[in-house]
Amino acid sequence: MRNRGYYAEFGGAFVPEILAATFDELEAAFDAAKNDPNFWAEYVEIMSTYSCRATPLTFAENLTRHFGGAKIYIKREDLNHTGAHKANNVMGQGLLVKRMGKTRVIAETGAGQHGVATATMAARYGLECTIYMGEVDVERQRPNVFWMERLGATVVPVKDGSRTLKDAINEAFRDWVSNMDNTHYVLGTACGPHPFPEMVTYFQSIIGQEARKQILEREGKLPKRVYACVGGGSNAMGLFSGFMNDPVELVGVEAGGHGIDSGMHAARLASKDASIGVAQGYKTYFLQNNDGQMQETHSIAAGLDYVGVSPILSHLHTSDRARFEAATDREVIDALALTMRKEGLIPALESSHAFAQAFKEAPTLAPDDLIIVNQSGRGDKDIFTVADAFEDPAWRQFIRHKAEQYHA
Ligand SMILES: *Cc1c(COP(=O)(O)O)cnc(C)c1O
Repeated sequence: MRNRGYYAEFGGAFVPEILAATFDELEAAFDAAKNDPNFWAEYVEIMSTYSCRATPLTFAENLTRHFGGAKIYIKREDLNHTGAHKANNVMGQGLLVKRMGKTRVIAETGAGQHGVATATMAARYGLECTIYMGEVDVERQRPNVFWMERLGATVVPVKDGSRTLKDAINEAFRDWVSNMDNTHYVLGTACGPHPFPEMVTYFQSIIGQEARKQILEREGKLPKRVYACVGGGSNAMGLFSGFMNDPVELVGVEAGGHGIDSGMHAARLASKDASIGVAQGYKTYFLQNNDGQMQETHSIAAGLDYVGVSPILSHLHTSDRARFEAATDREVIDALALTMRKEGLIPALESSHAFAQAFKEAPTLAPDDLIIVNQSGRGDKDIFTVADAFEDPAWRQFIRHKAEQYHA
């Protein structure tokens, strides 16, 4: 075990000996890139010509009036190519892959968003691409599997364990062990063994850097609080890192699912249900039972139901630098409905967690207080889930018709 990449007691790199040289190579490439000012410039250039950086900071005038408290600003990561902040991470890692001279990328995916983003990057950079996805997720997320395959990726359904995200991660590591020479593992969030939490945070920090500059330009002062949803923690770390050294309260919002008391949630830091452990190559809070067996998680947002969480966020939690809350499925649907009607924005279900918490707190703040909510992604992808939650009868009729067409 290696000694780098600790955030107090969290983090580390618990990787098989056989991968040690690969991790050294990655760390060296990342360190060299970080210290090369041309690298960040190249990254920003790609992100502003292929994606949509700088993303706007939108003043939510109608929501602000509705709640009558703090001025609400929204950071528009939904406007990235492929519809979410995930583009920041994959395009950045893609540049590193080119520097390392590798020709193949692999990735894990749960809901499929990271898989689509990685397949997109691979197509653009001319890399071979294999995506590992639990068999259960392959069935549940067919539209994303369809796009990954059209983008040229091979999607491998993983049949081990619960056949979901954590099994896909294990399988991706297995692939990496056998193909280290030509392959890079594009991990999707600020989790996993060092240097991934730091590296993913580095690429996502563009969110916070822009947001800080934008709010200062517009308002001449810093926000009181910033809000981001927390799955693995990459969009939260991206926004938070812009304000880490400022007197700004950082609020992470986890999946409250059916409620913290129901046991059906994915709140690792906002509940007392998680405990510290080592799994999947790093040390953090995991939702696990006493034997270290991972628990089932639940969220209406497929991107928030991971059992672990960024070791950097675990550290910000235990050191009281950040506050963690949970929003329930019901609160999330209400926040989404309100945001659509008031602002004409369709946040992803994941992002709607951050909105829900901000809406609880905005009325308790003063009109000259500012808050920023990170809209990590757009909600078009959630049409099946959202239409169900709204119990839209015409939508159900439409699905029934579609199914009948294929029966005929
Ligand atoms: C994947 C995803 C998330 C959760 O991932 P983090 O690493 O916690 O940011 C949040 N929002 C959207 C839109 C996503 O696609």
